[in-house]
Amino acid sequence: MNELVLRISDIQLPSSVFTLYIDGSFLSPPSHPASSMAYAWTAIDPDGFILESHYNIISSIFPSALRSEVFALLHGLDSLPRNSKITVTTDCAQLLSLWSLYVDAPFISRMLKESNHLLWSSIRTIMLQKNLDVTLIKVPAHADDPLNNHVDALAKAAHTDSHLSSCPPLELMVPCILQFNSLSVDMNIRKFIRNIFDAKSLLTLAVLPRFNSYSSTSDIDWACTKFCLNNNKHFVSHRNGHSEFCGFRIKLLLDMLPMLTTLQRRKPHLYNPNWLCPQCNSFPETLDHLWTCPYILPEFSPLQTFKTLLLALRTTYLDNFLSASSLIPLLDSFAAEFMALNCWDCDPPSISCLRLTRGLIPISLTEFLGIYFSSPTIWSILDTPLHDFHFDLYVQIWLCRSIFFHHWELAQGITKKMKSSALGPSSIL
Ligand SMILES: [Zn+2]
Repeated sequence: MNELVLRISDIQLPSSVFTLYIDGSFLSPPSHPASSMAYAWTAIDPDGFILESHYNIISSIFPSALRSEVFALLHGLDSLPRNSKITVTTDCAQLLSLWSLYVDAPFISRMLKESNHLLWSSIRTIMLQKNLDVTLIKVPAHADDPLNNHVDALAKAAHTDSHLSSCPPLELMVPCILQFNSLSVDMNIRKFIRNIFDAKSLLTLAVLPRFNSYSSTSDIDWACTKFCLNNNKHFVSHRNGHSEFCGFRIKLLLDMLPMLTTLQRRKPHLYNPNWLCPQCNSFPETLDHLWTCPYILPEFSPLQTFKTLLLALRTTYLDNFLSASSLIPLLDSFAAEFMALNCWDCDPPSISCLRLTRGLIPISLTEFLGIYFSSPTIWSILDTPLHDFHFDLYVQIWLCRSIFFHHWELAQGITKKMKSSALGPSSIL
């Protein structure tokens, strides 16, 4: 093996290096538009003079503050000559504890579960190949060490230095690299594979015909939809009947609620295909008709209830976004533009309004919000009010309709026994 090919750093420090100050810098939303990682090191000779300093940005894959620190260490060590005996100084305490676990110790397989395990493996390889004798120490807190401040400033400056070009793809020095679409997987591999399978099953769900009935599924923000449906904190609530409610939410999303049109398809011998909505007797009773049924009683009007709940949802969201911290200052027109999004058009409901009602988050909504807010902020704000909106739809529209429907079925002579029979009309007779 030609060791010279496997270099991360193209710098060769003189053998007089005595101490290496290293630092990483990580910027991320909301303070910065996109994640950015940078690192720096400064090499000092025994008399305390600076021999050389170096800083650069690194590709923003697997972004974290720790990764920028580990990379600073890796790059600094790779710039050293063979057989160096040096002290590396850092202000990152986590780096020290990981160093003593994974580098300054025999190999343990637990390292492969660690984020940045490829970087740590490369550090181990460099230490061995170059026969380095390294002592890692931490700059005491509040010591105001001038050299530490210097390297800290360098790492921060790297983010805005327009002369830098992002590092070429990493030449990692590890025996085995798992790649996915040419991305070297530098995180817990089991977790990574789980994420891939989650994404695959979400994709399988997304291409189901039930989501394609009126327009393209690319109009739906699937990641946000999944987040809002999956958020487990709601499922542990001890609300009475909450498991029925959870079932309602999932069936609503999948268009699996037992609407009359569904029953007419499944059991045409019991439900005459010509029957219309039992409430208004004017339209087929589809899922979307639940919210648009023009039936009016003094205490119950589905369309009116729906409009009130949807506009209340819009108001809650708007209040929450106005008080959330945004990436850029909100324009004066923010509130007006938010209210004018077509997912709030409810009379008659637009396609994206009907989708939002099902829990399918329209991409037009998250794209507009994405101008001002990070995805985690958007998702966490959309989540809980949507859950509450669904709970109100469940209680105020679905349960009322179901009680009414039950009495209507009895009036048609459709009994529970007939419904549960899997057989055709002849066997009932
Ligand atoms: Zn109706």
